[in-house]
Amino acid sequence: MKSAVVLFNRDLRVHDHPALASAIRASDAVVPLFVFDDHIMGGDFARPNRTKFLVDCVHVLRAELEDQGGTLFVRRGDPLRETLELAASTGADALYVTEDYSSYGRQRHNRLRCACAAAALSLVTLPGLAVIEPGELEPSGGDHFRVFTPYWRRWEVAAKRSLAATPRRIRTPRGPRKGRIPAARELVAGECSPDLPEGGEAVGRRRLSRWLSQGLAEYGDRHDDLAGDATSRLSPYLHFGCLSPLEMVARASGRPGAEAFIRQLCWRDFHQQVLAARPDLSTTDYRPRNDRWRNAPDDLDAWKRGLTGIPIVDAGIRQLAREGYMHNRARLITASFLTKDLYIDWRLGARHFWDLLVDGDIANNAGNWQWVAGTGNDTRPNRIFNPIRQAHRFDPNGDYVRRYVPELAGVKGSAVHEPWKLAPDVRKAIDYPEPLVDHAEAVQSFRSRRG
Ligand code: FAD
Repeated sequence: MKSAVVLFNRDLRVHDHPALASAIRASDAVVPLFVFDDHIMGGDFARPNRTKFLVDCVHVLRAELEDQGGTLFVRRGDPLRETLELAASTGADALYVTEDYSSYGRQRHNRLRCACAAAALSLVTLPGLAVIEPGELEPSGGDHFRVFTPYWRRWEVAAKRSLAATPRRIRTPRGPRKGRIPAARELVAGECSPDLPEGGEAVGRRRLSRWLSQGLAEYGDRHDDLAGDATSRLSPYLHFGCLSPLEMVARASGRPGAEAFIRQLCWRDFHQQVLAARPDLSTTDYRPRNDRWRNAPDDLDAWKRGLTGIPIVDAGIRQLAREGYMHNRARLITASFLTKDLYIDWRLGARHFWDLLVDGDIANNAGNWQWVAGTGNDTRPNRIFNPIRQAHRFDPNGDYVRRYVPELAGVKGSAVHEPWKLAPDVRKAIDYPEPLVDHAEAVQSFRSRRG
């Protein structure tokens, strides 16, 4: 009897999973496996919010595989050792994995390749993390795309692979122990944000269906409306692979509002192909600008605590703390404020986001932070968002600020964006700090520093 191990990583789903579908087609039995990798759990990845979401995803995946007659084997330790052990004990002759493009993903893959060769296991790698995998599209001069628009033009019309069949029945060997799924607190210390979303493919698919029927049509007009919260909020499901981005494109296509949304999914692929080409994206300036960033620990601390005195910035940062998520417009405003107004190194801001974001993703986080800081792929690297103007434009009634900054809950309308303009007696009654910087002065200062 032919059997194959399917090693899950950031592809925690059964729908449109090319590696799982191919293993089922080619084998009599499959051995689905997820390993809580000690290296990742003990290192930089493990943060309470993402770990909690990940544990949810693993539970849901096991339940889905069990519904189809199989199960998910779960181990903790070194993925290489655990995979080879399970392959040996089930007599598997092949290992199926989804390609990953982070530097750790590639390292793990290379180790697997050597170990599989030594153990006479055939290693089959298939796509699944992106709509179009890094390396599939190249600019005329070769290498990767450095600018989004030409990438988008090619991406939009490029041939996409077909969706993989959803398994109906999975045969899994009964011998080996299933393995317990640890609780998040066994894997990482620290508290989660109170309003985290629930993880897993089933929840992700329900959200996607609701989003396509109720949210998508207005996405183009409303995606920047901070208080309206009118984006899909599917990013953590995409990050953990609970949803296939290709299936999302297929299901969205042709519906009203689809183009603006699909374009965002293209941004995700864009940053992945940048990371594949520049594995040091999260630590090294993509385009160095000779910045000598300010060393200002008190300002950084005020920013991280949502106490800059600029309400729209503080609201974004506090949304992050409360939900492990921040609206994209607020990510732009808070990141611009840190790097341009305060002139603090983007890496420190990206680190704070990384600590809390449930969708924290190396390619998207580092790529976007560098974009905002002007060290990345923005064609206008020295643009500076005016946080007050942004606040009036994207939160015109001030509801977003009042939702996350309770000190200002009593201030009516858009006056909430500039509490320093309130009558002195009103201002005095509110326990909220004065602005850390004056934006106009900060712009001058940034321009003289950037040169
Ligand atoms: P929607 O607007 O519904 O978009 C649909 C999907 O498209 C998203 O789920 C996401 O996968 C993708 N997408 C949307 N905008 C972008 C973008 N600018 N770049 C790449 N992909 C995009 N996104 C992450 O997934 N992880 C991160 O760690 C991350 N860090 C960011 C840091 C900064 C400073 C900024 C400015 C943006 C960051 N983003 C990150 C991108 C974006 O803010 C989020 O993807 C988006 O807010 C998620 O909400 P949503 O699912 O409702 O998005």
